[in-house]
Amino acid sequence: MTAVHDLISSLPTDLWLGGKQTPGSTGARFAVLNPATGDQLTTVADATSQDALTALDLADSVQSSWAATPARERAEILRRAFDSVNSRVEDFALLMTLEMGKSLQESRGEVAYGSEFLRWFSEEAVRIGGRFTQAPAGNGRILVTKKPVGPVLAITPWNFPLAMGTRKIGPALAAGCTVIVKPAEDTPLTMLLLGQIFADAGLPAGVLSILPTLNAAAVSGPLMADPRLRKVTFTGSTGVGKLLVRNAADRLLRTSMELGGNAPFIVFDDADVDAAVDGAMLAKMRNGGEACTAANRLYVANSVREEFTSKLTARIEALTVGAGDIGGTDIGPLINAKQRTTVTALVDDAVAKGATVRTGGGAPHGAGFFFTPTVLDDVPADANLLREEIFGPVAAIVGFDTEAEAVAAANDTQYGLVSYFYTRDLDRAMRVSAALDSGMVGVNRGAISDAAAPFGGVKESGFGREGGTEGIEEYLETKYVALQ
Ligand code: NAD
Repeated sequence: MTAVHDLISSLPTDLWLGGKQTPGSTGARFAVLNPATGDQLTTVADATSQDALTALDLADSVQSSWAATPARERAEILRRAFDSVNSRVEDFALLMTLEMGKSLQESRGEVAYGSEFLRWFSEEAVRIGGRFTQAPAGNGRILVTKKPVGPVLAITPWNFPLAMGTRKIGPALAAGCTVIVKPAEDTPLTMLLLGQIFADAGLPAGVLSILPTLNAAAVSGPLMADPRLRKVTFTGSTGVGKLLVRNAADRLLRTSMELGGNAPFIVFDDADVDAAVDGAMLAKMRNGGEACTAANRLYVANSVREEFTSKLTARIEALTVGAGDIGGTDIGPLINAKQRTTVTALVDDAVAKGATVRTGGGAPHGAGFFFTPTVLDDVPADANLLREEIFGPVAAIVGFDTEAEAVAAANDTQYGLVSYFYTRDLDRAMRVSAALDSGMVGVNRGAISDAAAPFGGVKESGFGREGGTEGIEEYLETKYVALQ
């Protein structure tokens, strides 16, 4: 309790504006809850449209000087921030567990993963290239240069409170862009602490602003209408992503959209079933199932389905559910009461339509927004959870007979973020990874995220890539200079 109290009382809880904390234009605040208890952890300042425009005034006033700052200096600020986050692993981990609910072990994993974007892009900052060629007609030279796109608005979700921010802040700062972050209202504390880290790392005032708010549109609306803002990068639901793309059209703002997923996880008849069960535990249960990359639909060859399902059920039954900050907890609560209602409705619908409950099936009684880890077998094709993101610890299993049937079912969705499959046949691995209609494919592995790889989707999972050498391009404009 004292560790929690000491951490919470030491946190920045005001807006980050101009390199320092400010209470905001109205002084209004809102509560941040612990989803394991439903109790209030603390309150944070509630940004208004006026605060948003103040952040943009600041961003605009330092955009040119930040862009002109030597890449090496920008890189070293990012690297200091990486070191500093890692010197406070336990603080960041406990904070994410408290405001988001995941277990401490998972939160520590997110600190490692999320901070890596700061290190990776500190290394990419000094490698922004260009090109120089002779015009084919021999009448001139072609010089291609890169420049930062300009002030960026970054809107992030609650499920990875650190990593969803660093995946945007890292490349944007590396490219020389100023950034205004609007973190999710359920989990603003982690991003505010990152603001402190950047202020201490020597980031010039105004380059990064952080604006928690209960009224997201009041912050994003005026910013997106202002010609000084040049880009919106968003991670969140497909519905909100579409709305932002429509709004961005008015000023033809650059956009990157990391949206919802509905990942298929296929276990072929030639798979190593034990490895597939290990992979499914990761792909399904990581982050309590509250991940855009979560395996939403498990298609299992009928010849190995009972073996896979019984082994997976045993592993899922052995998970310890509880508050994330209690030692030994595997699965924490869902983010809020609304999410628990959504997951309950999806499970009830599948069961009413004929799915078999192998374990779990509902929410336990008591405080907090928990949902018992669940395995459903024989899920019928018309169950809503095969079309919608579950975002909870629910494994939905469907049998299949042929490869063609599995691939067709996997692709039968408007989403296309990630797909997973298990096989020991190399030809099949190449054929199926080409046939799956998603931005990312995991072959014989249940986790694919890596700061060095391009993360992103196709279809209604969005466009743009975060991480890899591609990630920084989202924040760069290409300029062609014709030389005589
Ligand atoms: P959400 O769309 O409800 O909210 C995301 C962010 O958008 C929050 O900060 C929210 O305040 C803000 N927002 C909401 N309405 C807005 C509006 N009208 N204008 C401007 N901003 C607005 O999503 P969520 O529930 O926080 O996150 C879960 C979703 O995020 C899932 O669909 C998940 O798949 C997706 N997600 C995608 C990725 C990815 O990389 N593709 C990663 C993580 C989460």
